[in-house]
Amino acid sequence: MIVRLLQSLQSRIVIFFLVLLALVQGVALALLQKANERNARQHIRQELAVGERIFRRLSEQNAGRLTQAVEILALDFAFRQAVATHDLPTIQSVLLNHGARIQADRMALIALDRRLITDSLDPQSAGRAFALPQLVEAAERDGRATGIVMHGTRAYQVVLVPVLAPTPIAWAMFGLLVDDRLAKDVRTVSALDVAFFGRTAGEPWTPLGATVSASLQDRFAHALEAPQRTVLELDENHALVIPLTAYQADVVAVLSSSMEEAMAPFQQLGTLLVVLVAGSLAACVVGSIFIARGVTRPLSALGEMTRRMEQGDYAQPVELTGPHEVSELAHRFNLMREAIAAREAQVTRLAYRDPLSDLPNRTLFNDRLRVAIEVAKRSATAVTVLLMDLDRFKNINDALGHHIGDLVLQQVAQRLTGLVRKSDTTARLGGDEFAVLLNSAGVEEAHSVAQKIVALLEQPIEVSQQTLDVSASIGVAGFPAHGEDADTLMRHADAAMYAAKRANIGVAVYDPHMHERREEELSLLSELRQAIDWGELRLVYQPKVDLSRGELMGVEALVRWQHPTKGLVPPDRFIPFAEETGFVRTITSWVIDAAVKQAAAWRAAGRPLKVSVNISVHDLQNPELVEVLTASLERHRLPASQLLLEITESGVMRDAARAIEMLKRVDEVGVGCAIDDFGTGYSSLAYIKQLKVDELKIDRSFIRTLVSDPKDRAIVLSTIDLAHNLGLVVVAEGVEDGASAQLLRELGCDQMQGYHVSQPLDAAAFETWAAARAAGRRSSIS
Ligand code: C2E
Ligand code: CA
Ligand code: CA
Repeated sequence: MIVRLLQSLQSRIVIFFLVLLALVQGVALALLQKANERNARQHIRQELAVGERIFRRLSEQNAGRLTQAVEILALDFAFRQAVATHDLPTIQSVLLNHGARIQADRMALIALDRRLITDSLDPQSAGRAFALPQLVEAAERDGRATGIVMHGTRAYQVVLVPVLAPTPIAWAMFGLLVDDRLAKDVRTVSALDVAFFGRTAGEPWTPLGATVSASLQDRFAHALEAPQRTVLELDENHALVIPLTAYQADVVAVLSSSMEEAMAPFQQLGTLLVVLVAGSLAACVVGSIFIARGVTRPLSALGEMTRRMEQGDYAQPVELTGPHEVSELAHRFNLMREAIAAREAQVTRLAYRDPLSDLPNRTLFNDRLRVAIEVAKRSATAVTVLLMDLDRFKNINDALGHHIGDLVLQQVAQRLTGLVRKSDTTARLGGDEFAVLLNSAGVEEAHSVAQKIVALLEQPIEVSQQTLDVSASIGVAGFPAHGEDADTLMRHADAAMYAAKRANIGVAVYDPHMHERREEELSLLSELRQAIDWGELRLVYQPKVDLSRGELMGVEALVRWQHPTKGLVPPDRFIPFAEETGFVRTITSWVIDAAVKQAAAWRAAGRPLKVSVNISVHDLQNPELVEVLTASLERHRLPASQLLLEITESGVMRDAARAIEMLKRVDEVGVGCAIDDFGTGYSSLAYIKQLKVDELKIDRSFIRTLVSDPKDRAIVLSTIDLAHNLGLVVVAEGVEDGASAQLLRELGCDQMQGYHVSQPLDAAAFETWAAARAAGRRSSIS
C-alpha cells in the first residue's frame, strides 16, 4: 500500500514538500528555542543584578529609616531624663512610642555595661547581659552600628546608636523583622522573588521569610553553602545569593527568577510559531496536492488517450487547460494522434486496397466473403463468388507495355464496379484476376451477372488512342451449393474459371468434375518430367502446301504426349505448365532433335521437306539454343536451310530486343524463322522490320471467319501486303475449307495449313498421306 502510494507522482511531490517544509520549520523552531533560552538566561542574570542593587538600596533605606528614628529617640529629652533616672516605665513607653511611629519590630535599650535595660521582644531579659557584644563594640568604634541579628529563629535588621547626655549614658536599638513582608516589599520594587535564610553557628539554614513556595525555600536552603555572593541554578530557577551584614550569625537574601517566567513572552511567540508551522504545513499539503494535480492530471489524461489509441480509437482529442506547458504538450499529442491516425488509415488502405484500381484487394475480399458466408448461414440465404481472369492479357502487357496494361486494368475495374450493386464487392486479386462477391444472389442470378460482365468487356477498350479487344473468362461458385467456406468457394470458382477459359465459353459454373481436371493438370506436371526419359513424347506433322500450285512445301512438327493411362495429351494441356517451370527448354531440345532426325530421314529417302519447330518465348532466353540447333543439325547431317523455327508474335513482343538478337544468331547459322499466330500479339511494324524472319503465319482466328467477316478479310489482306513488302512468305493457319482456301489464293496468300489439307499426322501416316497425294497429283497432271 505504502509502496504503491510512493509510486504515485502526486504523493511523491506532496511528501517531498511536506518533509522539506517540516524539516526547515523544525530546525528553525529548535534554533529559536535555543536562542530564547540563551536570551532568557541572560535576561535573568541582568534582572538579578538589577534586583541586587534595588535590594541593597531598600536595605539602606530601611537602615536609614531606623537610624533616623533611633537618633531622634536618643535626642528626646524626656527619654534621656528617664534613662538617667532609671525610670523604666517611661523608658519603655517612649521606646514603644517611637518604634510604633516607624513600625519597628524590636526596640531595646542597653546599659553601658552591656546589660539589657529593656527589650520589647523579651520583657524578662532586663538586667541580663546583651547577647550581641560585637554590635556594641562596632557602635563604640563608629558612633553607631547597623546590621542583621538573629533572635531565635527570627532575624532583625537593627540600628544601634548611643544615648548622649552629652556623654553616652546607654545604647538604643531599633529593629525591623526580616520576614515575608520585607520579601514582598523587595518583590514589589524588583519584580524578583526573594527568600531570606539565616543560621547561627553549627545550625542549618532556616527560612526567614520569602515570596516563594515553602518547597522552593527548602531546595534553596539545601543548596546554600557559605554566605557568599553566588549564583544558584536550580532547574527552572536561577537565583542570586546575597550575603547580608550580620552579627553572630549568617544571613543571606536569595533573589530568584524562574526560567519559565523569563521564557513566558518567548513561549507565547513559540506557540504562535508552532501554530504558524502547522498552518503552513497544511497549506503546503493542500498547495502541493494542487500543483501535483496540475502535473498528474494532464499526465493521466494523456495516458488515457494513449490507451484509447492502443485500442484503435484515434477520434477523440485530448483536451487540457492549464499552464502553457501543459496545453502545448496536449497540442503536440493531438498532432501526433492525427499523424498516427492518418498513417494508420494509409497502412490500412495499402493493406486492404489495390493501389492500381482502388478496389479491395484479396485480403479484404476474403474477409468480406467470410463475413458474407456467416451472414448467409444465419439468414439461410446465398452468396456467390465470380472469379474473373482476362484472356491473353499477358499479350497486351508484353506488346504494349505495362503502362497500357495498367490503364486497361483500370478501365476493366471501372466497368465492373459500374455493373454490380453497391452492396456487392468487386476486388482485384492480382494481375488480371478480378473477383465479385454477390450478396444474397443465387447461382442462376450470378450466372447472368457474369454474362453481363463478359458482354460488357467485349466492347472495345480505348487506351492511349488505341482500341483493344479484351475478353474475360469467369468462374462461378456459390454458397451453399458449391462450398461451405471461403477457401473452398474460391478454389471452386477458380476451377470453374479455368474451365471457362479452356472451353472458351466466357462463363462456367462450378461442378465437381472441373475440380478433378484442375487437380489432374497439377499431377500431370510432375509426370511430365519423366515423360522424355520414358519416351512418351511424340511428334506429329502437319503439311504446309503452296496455295497457287498445291505443292507440298514442308511440315510443322507438333508435340504430343502419349500418356500411359490418360492417352494422347494435347500440347495446350502441358506446354503452358512446362513454360511456367522452365522445363519447356528440355522439351524444345527434344522436339528439335526429333524433328531434325525425321527431316534427315526423309531427305535420305529422297523426299526432302522443310520442318518447322515451335519454340517458346522461354527458349529465346536460352543462350544455348543456337548450340542445340547446330548440334542436332550436325549430328543428323541436315542442312540448316531445311529447318524453320516458329515463334509467336506475342513471344517476340514480350522481349523484342532479345528476340531480335536471338533471331539474328539463328539466321547466322542458316536456320529460318517464322512469326506464329500473327495478328494476336499487337506487334509493331518497326519490330517486324528488324527481325530476321522468313515467314509470317496468320493466326487461325482470322482465317476461321475470313469468308463471313469482311473486317477480318481486310486485316488478312493488309497483313499479306505488309509481309510481301518485307519480303516474307505468308502462311495461313487453320484453313478448314475450300472456300477459305480459294479466298486466300485470291488475296495473294502464299501457303496454307489446316484440316482442309490435313490433320497433323505421325511420321508413318504422313508418309502414306504424302505418297497418296503425290500419286494423286501425278495422275491429275498426266
Ligand atoms: P500452333 O503453333 O498454332 O499450332 C497449330 C495448331 O493448330 C495445332 O494444334 C494444330 O493441330 C491446330 N490446327 C491445325 N489445322 C487446324 C485447323 O484447320 N483448324 C483448327 N481449329 N486447328 C488446326 P496443337 O497441335 O494442339 O498445338 C497447339 C499449340 O501448341 C501450337 O499452336 C503451338 O503453339 C503449341 N505447340 C505444339 N507443339 C509444340 C512444340 O513442340 N513446342 C512448343 N513450344 N509449342 C508447341
Ligand atoms: Ca506453330
Ligand atoms: Ca499457329
